[in-house]
Amino acid sequence: MAEGDGVNRATSALRTALVGHRLRRFEAPRLMGPPPDLGRVVESVTHHGRHLRIRWDDDLVLDTHLKMSGIWDLYRPGQQWRKSHRNMCVLIETDDWTAVCYNAPVVETYRAPDRTRHPAMGRLGPNLRDPAAKLGIAVERLMGYPDPEAYLAEVLLDQRVFYGVGNVYRSEVLWALQVSPWAHVGELDEYGAETLIETAATMLRSGGECVSALAARDGLAVYGRNGQGCLRCRDTIRAHRIGHLARSVYWCDGCQTYLDSRPIVTVDEMDPHPAVAQYLAELPWRDQDAG
Ligand SMILES: [Zn+2]
Repeated sequence: MAEGDGVNRATSALRTALVGHRLRRFEAPRLMGPPPDLGRVVESVTHHGRHLRIRWDDDLVLDTHLKMSGIWDLYRPGQQWRKSHRNMCVLIETDDWTAVCYNAPVVETYRAPDRTRHPAMGRLGPNLRDPAAKLGIAVERLMGYPDPEAYLAEVLLDQRVFYGVGNVYRSEVLWALQVSPWAHVGELDEYGAETLIETAATMLRSGGECVSALAARDGLAVYGRNGQGCLRCRDTIRAHRIGHLARSVYWCDGCQTYLDSRPIVTVDEMDPHPAVAQYLAELPWRDQDAG
């Protein structure tokens, strides 16, 4: 059997189990680099050769270089492990699954380069996760955004305004405020901008749990829930890519109507769940890697 097949299978299985789910526990005894934050949501699982990479929505990437000895396994809570705990080099736990990597020679984390940031366009905005962050700077940058026609869904990922929000929480913040992802940033007044920043900061600092009274599993109200009923109004959650970014935003058409500036051309296609979207996007690569 081709060497890549095992990694392909592990990648697909981990993707199905982890993408869209919140990190509850993390262990990696010989990790090089910072550990992922608990509460963060897995956004993708990919592999390149025998590097299996798990990326959280704040762009932290865990890279396990499996070489010849490393394998990944998945367990339900309480299920017996296939190998000894001594061989464990990574443990990732969500509400439903425990993913365990055994015997990978290299386990490291790093920040993926931010796709939205243009080096010529200025410095990073404040980190909204940091309790000492100056939120006023983020409000100013939002109010003075260079392109007033830009959609809020895009602006929320622009790290010149602020960073730390990521792809999962941009959908959650907009849902919490009932603001349309197609709101033009230029139409926010100062109160709207302040509310947006404060909501995002509160959500990030609490690990996103502030919607938990309403939210279903993982404390997420809209992210990855396309096709399901909205927890607030029962309308259908939808997903779509906005602007030049390849990442989908999730929203409810029924109750996120504030400042909706959608183009006349209606959006009728629906993106698949993030795990499925990623699988489909990578199909051409799978054969190469397996070969
Ligand atoms: Zn709704």
